[in-house]
Amino acid sequence: KKIIVAIDGWSSCGKSTLARQMAKALGYIYIDSGAMYRAITLYFLRNHINWENSKEVEKALKNIELDFRPNDQTAQNEIYLNDENVEYLIRDLVVAEKVSDVAAIQEVRAFAVAQQQKLGKKKGIIMDGRDIGTVVFPKAELKLFMTADNVVRIERRFKELVEKNPNITIKEVAENIQMRDYIDSNRAISPLRQAKDAIVLDNTNLTPEEQLKKSLKLVKE
Ligand code: C5P
Repeated sequence: KKIIVAIDGWSSCGKSTLARQMAKALGYIYIDSGAMYRAITLYFLRNHINWENSKEVEKALKNIELDFRPNDQTAQNEIYLNDENVEYLIRDLVVAEKVSDVAAIQEVRAFAVAQQQKLGKKKGIIMDGRDIGTVVFPKAELKLFMTADNVVRIERRFKELVEKNPNITIKEVAENIQMRDYIDSNRAISPLRQAKDAIVLDNTNLTPEEQLKKSLKLVKE
C-alpha cells in the first residue's frame, strides 16, 4: 500500500537528499515544498511586489502558476513558474535571503498549502518542508523530523552553493541558515515544529546510505 511520507526539519539538514533517495527506492513522487516558496519569492523579487501589502500579494498570487515536471534526463521533478523552469534560479542566495519572510505571509501559505494538499491526493508521495507533518498532511502515515549538527549543516550547504557561486562565503551561508531557522520557527502561521508522532532522524553521523536504510525500514514497519 502506498503512503504519504512527510519530512520536516531545520534548513539544510539533508531533507531533500533523503526524500529523493526514498522516492527513487520506493517508486514514489518527491515534492519539494520549499521550492514553491522559493519560486513565489523569485516572482515577487522580479516583479517588485511589496509583500507587506496583502492586496498586492493577493493580486500577484493570481498571476503565479506553479507546477512540477520531471526532468527528461534525471526523471526528477523540477519546478516551473509560469511555464519557466526555475529549479536552479531559486537556489540562489538572493532568493534564500527573502524566502522566509515571504513564507511567513498568510496568503502565500494558503496558496502553497492548497496546492501541496492537492498533490497529496495521489498516494506514494514524499514531501519535505517545515509544516508537512503538522499542517499539510497531519495524517501522513510516516513523519520524519530531521536534525543535524550546525557545523555539518553549514558545511554541506556551503559546498553546494560555492560550486555555482565561487564568491560566496561560509559566513553568508551560516547567517542565512540561522536567520531562516529563526524566522521559520518563530512565525505566527504554521511555524516549524516537530509533529507529535514524528520520528527524529539525526543524520550528523550517517552516510546517505545509512540514512536511507534506516528510513526505508520505517516505511515497512
Ligand atoms: O526547504 P527549503 O530550505 O528550500 O525552503 C526554503 C524556505 O521556504 C524555508 O526556509 C521556509 O521559510 C520556507 N518553507 C516553509 N514551509 C515549507 C517549506 C519551506 O515555510 N513547507
